[in-house]
Amino acid sequence: MKYTADEIKAALEQNALCVYYQPLYVTMTSRLKSAEALVRWKKPDGTLVPPSEFIPAAEESDLILDIDWYVTEQVCKTLVKQNILPQFPVSVNFSRRHIREANFAEKLSALADQYELPHPLIEVEITESAMVAEEHEFSDWIVSIRAAGFTVVIDDFGSGLSSLQFVKDVPADVLKIDKSLLSRNCEDEKERIVLESIFSFAHRLQMKTVAEGVETKEQLAFLRSCDCSKIQGYLFARPMPEQEYLTLCQTHQVAEEPADILRFQSHTSAANLLLSVIFRRYPLVIFSNLTRNTYYAMAYQDFTSTNCPSTGIYDELIMHGAMSMHPDDRADFAAAFSREKLLADCANGIHEVRLVTRQLGDDGVYRRAETVDFFVRCNYSDDIIIISLCQNLPD
Ligand code: C2E
Ligand code: CA
Ligand code: CA
Repeated sequence: MKYTADEIKAALEQNALCVYYQPLYVTMTSRLKSAEALVRWKKPDGTLVPPSEFIPAAEESDLILDIDWYVTEQVCKTLVKQNILPQFPVSVNFSRRHIREANFAEKLSALADQYELPHPLIEVEITESAMVAEEHEFSDWIVSIRAAGFTVVIDDFGSGLSSLQFVKDVPADVLKIDKSLLSRNCEDEKERIVLESIFSFAHRLQMKTVAEGVETKEQLAFLRSCDCSKIQGYLFARPMPEQEYLTLCQTHQVAEEPADILRFQSHTSAANLLLSVIFRRYPLVIFSNLTRNTYYAMAYQDFTSTNCPSTGIYDELIMHGAMSMHPDDRADFAAAFSREKLLADCANGIHEVRLVTRQLGDDGVYRRAETVDFFVRCNYSDDIIIISLCQNLPD
């Protein structure tokens, strides 16, 4: 059934539109994390009209703006009812027409402030197709929303003319992967490769990810292996009326038995955990390619000396490092870690090189610093690589 703009407008004015909430869960733990607001039209006889039957018509004019703002206000009211509960963020769908709306971010801020809601509780969901054509305008729009403290979600990623270029340039927080990309059991090799790559690039761009339309345990298992942040779908919950959603938040239900996280952990998340422990002990980790005379430093927190560039030429790194040492230790440091010496060590079958020196910190104080270099073999290159773990020793 299709409706006219006048009929939809009348429904809006008569408060016949209502908001359903579909919960989103943390992929690894199945814990409730947030929700998406989805509009429905409640007919006098109690039947519900799905958005697919009236949103497209509303999107042909500015009527959609009124509907979206109405939904946002209903969401604010629901969040206020959660005042004494743990509050979970709610995302609201905004049509692309809002991109042209003057002062969108100010308007959203004013609404949130009117209900005294912290801005991170409201998320702005905009479909990827909105990006087509007006990239610059779209980026500016997103920047202004994020600057006001709201989260921005790119919806339906992969459903249409997806452009990796756009995602790279658009500064959104979350990438929501369209349900059309997930088959029932995710067993097709090519499909898995495409999805794994999408999750991997999103994470490398520091974006969180959501998979929508998750209906099967097989999909869940695969998404866990991809390190997908959150999932939404009938497997865990369908969109539900406000009261049912509030009860769910209150009981803080877990969608399934809490599972042992180690069983689902992907290599990426395991590596991140491991890295956090390594950084606890070694605040400075440097990867160097001796063959190509380059390095890449992963500096965690404040190491004694922090003024070294994070990438550059290895020989310069050692020169720079030597200069930060106590004058009596400079020659030892330069000799132990010169490229020629390390390449010879490697040829002689040595696996690691360790040296303790006194290093001048940014605060002007000398501290004992230990550097341990490990030779590593890289299975896709013959270059000689070392990983240096650096830490301060107690005095
Ligand atoms: P969407 O933003 O992609 O919303 C997700 C849709 O997928 C929802 O349909 C939801 O019920 C459905 N869904 C969730 N989990 C599953 C699942 O496991 N399997 C399957 N097959 N479907 C699932 P819904 O509620 O009918 O909404 C349809 C579309 O209408 C939304 O797609 C959104 O584009 C639009 N829409 C809904 N509410 C609003 C609104 O307030 N404003 C605007 N502008 N658009 C809205
Ligand atoms: Ca959506
Ligand atoms: Ca979607």
